[in-house]
Amino acid sequence: MKKVGYLYDPVFLEHRPDSFHPENPQRLKAIEKAVDESGLKDYLILIKPEAARKEDILLNHAEEYYNRVEATQEIEFGNFDPDTYFCKDTYRSAMLAAGGCIKAGKMVMEGEIDSAFCAVRPPGHHSEHGYTKGFCIFNNIAILARRLWADYNLERIAILDWDGHHGNGTQHAFYDTERVHYASLHAFPFYPGSGTKNETGTGSGKGYTLNFPLGLGAGDEQFLGPVKEEWLPAMSDYRPEIILVSAGYDAFTADPYVFLDVSPEAISEICRIAKAAAEEYCDGRIVLVLEGGYVLDYIGRAVVEHLKILME
Ligand SMILES: [Zn+2]
Repeated sequence: MKKVGYLYDPVFLEHRPDSFHPENPQRLKAIEKAVDESGLKDYLILIKPEAARKEDILLNHAEEYYNRVEATQEIEFGNFDPDTYFCKDTYRSAMLAAGGCIKAGKMVMEGEIDSAFCAVRPPGHHSEHGYTKGFCIFNNIAILARRLWADYNLERIAILDWDGHHGNGTQHAFYDTERVHYASLHAFPFYPGSGTKNETGTGSGKGYTLNFPLGLGAGDEQFLGPVKEEWLPAMSDYRPEIILVSAGYDAFTADPYVFLDVSPEAISEICRIAKAAAEEYCDGRIVLVLEGGYVLDYIGRAVVEHLKILME
């Protein structure tokens, strides 16, 4: 059985809205409850987060923006933008989320664990260099990729983003470099509006961004087809040193915030495909980072299923 890390901490529940918001602590509570009840914890390596340092955040974000987030600790509740709220504990949660992902990624790189699932919030993939977007504060997966790139001199990091929304922030972070290969499956045209087929990178990054925009209502075949037919061959050429996944669960049929029609089985199948690619190209090194997903009784089951896949 593979050694799989599971990152979770109640501190991730402290980032909370003052009125109803789809991205709320109940999401992570549902995941933690399902993992707890699954009995898998006896076999997982439980990872406690350590806060990111300011310099980690600055690997991907502007200092002025970091300072703006840090300053919210003085304020009970507020909004960065119409979609993205904060409370006085948001900064702490966000620093531990980013730092926890770094810790999990380093444990994988050091061979302490084979792979990891990071059950964190606030989510990250919409977050841009200098501003919040779409419920996201710091871009956890982009910060993780930058940290691993800096500390291990990695030259080929693959990010697969299977959240039902386009990860605009992550795409933009690595748009001009060949050192990160970014691929995204997402509903289109739909929020955030980016992620067309002809967005493929620029400069030395040309060809290292791969977008799979899916028509509204697209199902399992449209979801899995491009992964098998285009992403896997791209990985065969790229030979990643680690695969990072923006694991969102909102492509699921019943999700109220994305209009795709993807079954739980297909979302598990994509996890299996990503894990198999990691085994083929990078000694199984793969780190999943939670993004969206809003159907509470599904996301818990999905994460348990994905942990089992990683453990196989
Ligand atoms: Zn999403």
